[in-house]
Amino acid sequence: MKAAVYYGPRDVRVESVPRPSAGPGEVVLRVRRCSVCGTDKRIFTHGQKNVVPPAITGHEIVGTVYEVGSGVDAQIAAGRNVVVATVVGCGTCIYCRRKQYNLCDSFTALGYDYAGGFAEYVKIPAVAVAQGNIILIPPAMSLERAALVEPLSCCLNGQEYLDAQPGDRALVFGAGPIGMMHAAILKTRGADPVMVTDVSEERLSYVREFGLGKTVNTAGGNAVEKILEAAGGEKFDVAITANSVKATQADALKLVRKKARVSFFAGIPKDDPVLGIDTNFIHYNEVSVFGCFASNLKHYHQALEMVLSDGVPWDRFLTHRFKLDDMVKAYAVIEAGQGIKTVIDCE
Ligand SMILES: [Zn+2]
Ligand SMILES: [Zn+2]
Repeated sequence: MKAAVYYGPRDVRVESVPRPSAGPGEVVLRVRRCSVCGTDKRIFTHGQKNVVPPAITGHEIVGTVYEVGSGVDAQIAAGRNVVVATVVGCGTCIYCRRKQYNLCDSFTALGYDYAGGFAEYVKIPAVAVAQGNIILIPPAMSLERAALVEPLSCCLNGQEYLDAQPGDRALVFGAGPIGMMHAAILKTRGADPVMVTDVSEERLSYVREFGLGKTVNTAGGNAVEKILEAAGGEKFDVAITANSVKATQADALKLVRKKARVSFFAGIPKDDPVLGIDTNFIHYNEVSVFGCFASNLKHYHQALEMVLSDGVPWDRFLTHRFKLDDMVKAYAVIEAGQGIKTVIDCE
């Protein structure tokens, strides 16, 4: 089969590799679409400790069941279209016993520890199949919408903590695909206004075009002032950092009201993660600050439900499409910050 094989930073070669086959409990999917995540691009440029070359990355997988090993649930039948949950729990730690697989102490993941979706076929390991990581999608559902389920599931996990209510004032830092999905969720839940910031006018123009919220271009610094000015001096009930900039986390805390909920959704570079904050501000104002890591199975099911609705122009989120042969070109588009979501057509 054809696969985009990662040999090291900036060395991805599209080549022929053996097609996987399904042993007991395993399932092989014919990959149809695999969208490209920011982390896939980071692996391409910098590498990642769990991705040992030669490796096949890609975890936002939409496929058709191709071969089913013995002992697999009969619902997972050849020909069914599915999406795949990325994180595989160890099954025994305290978090796995609570079915919080994304928080497993020793989790593994498709597209990192196991071969991923930038290939014509992908094998889903038995432990993942048994945990319910293969999620059936309605036969009529568009494959491209299904390719949004994994990143949207992560956003839904982050927002579970924020519990946005109708009329809440909401602020999203970053108008990349994740920031746009957060804005879409907030809008669906009735937050008003939903304000989205970025330094790229191209990205902000998508937010306005899709009707997801108001925009503020914070290029050139003084983000707090610019946002407050655009907001008529009113602060926010909900704030989400969807960019990997430490200063944004501090800015978020300067822009929220009493009882606000703040999500540090995006991680920041690990060489400089310490932030000095006024903890009395959090104390006296009953502000809550939350983290988020990946998502759990229930968030995939919620995301599937959400992309089936036409209230958000989901089809327009996928702005760039490439064939597997052009994998490296797809990374270049993401590196240049172009468009919203890039998807690989593996057919
Ligand atoms: Zn992803
Ligand atoms: Zn575990």
